[in-house]
Amino acid sequence: NSDGTIFDYRPRHSGVPRRVGRALAAVNPKEGTLRRAIKRGETDLADFLVNQDIFCPSTSVWAPKAEMGDRLLVEISRGCSQGCRFCWAGYNYYPPRVVPAKDILAKAAEWRSKTDKIGLVSTAVCDHPEISAILSGLRAMDYRISVSSLRLDQISDELLDALVESRDQQIAVAPETGSDRLRRVINKNLTNDEIVDICGAIFDRGMLTVKLYLMVGLPTETDEDLDEMFALVKRIRDRMLKAGKRFGRAGRIIPAVNGFVPKPNTPLQWDAICDEKELKKRIKYVCRG
Ligand code: SF4
Repeated sequence: NSDGTIFDYRPRHSGVPRRVGRALAAVNPKEGTLRRAIKRGETDLADFLVNQDIFCPSTSVWAPKAEMGDRLLVEISRGCSQGCRFCWAGYNYYPPRVVPAKDILAKAAEWRSKTDKIGLVSTAVCDHPEISAILSGLRAMDYRISVSSLRLDQISDELLDALVESRDQQIAVAPETGSDRLRRVINKNLTNDEIVDICGAIFDRGMLTVKLYLMVGLPTETDEDLDEMFALVKRIRDRMLKAGKRFGRAGRIIPAVNGFVPKPNTPLQWDAICDEKELKKRIKYVCRG
């Protein structure tokens, strides 16, 4: 739909759980989520939800010597509106819900005496309707902000500024595959040109290290798609080197390649997993490239 919801999901195979079918087929998106209330201009409902005493999932045990133990982790939202067809989180956490900014900032204020590092955990950080208030509130508290992987289509200047300020030098993004065609198959509607431009905007801020999440073994994948994957990574690397000249240093492009695994309750759940021998062959081919 034009408002980003999915209302007409007709699985080709029998056996798709009805619970998921119903959630996806609802003509009216579920009531009661802050994100939808703000989007629809339902101020009474939005005020009610904002003023509720909402639980904010976050670090509860302070263990500075543990992995990421010196960082307050806060889950700012759950679910994602993008609808990538392979994504477990997108479909199983549907519809997306957010924690109000006031609760996130209250939690951050409570922990500020212990740490100046905060990690915003979410499948889509910039999907949060109050992300500006969250970022400015955290910057005012002098927090160093980091984020889990970013949705490429939603990286904002404001978020990049906050990350630069936090001296977070590595960003993870997920082109998933190398060709525009295969990206349309999985419903990630970004082109290679857009991905290179977005990575360019990241490099131009001096953040020269980017981790790329990629998948092989997707349904309908061909050798040409794999060849386009090399070409895309090379274009991103060339763009990084160009930006690096201005800063007098080179960064790193870190491609992380995984095999596609069909997840339950997603549109691709009944697609076959790539045969092990074939998958190893494709991964070897990609790694050689
Ligand atoms: S953008 Fe990321 S989190 Fe959202 S549906 Fe796609 S893969 Fe899942």
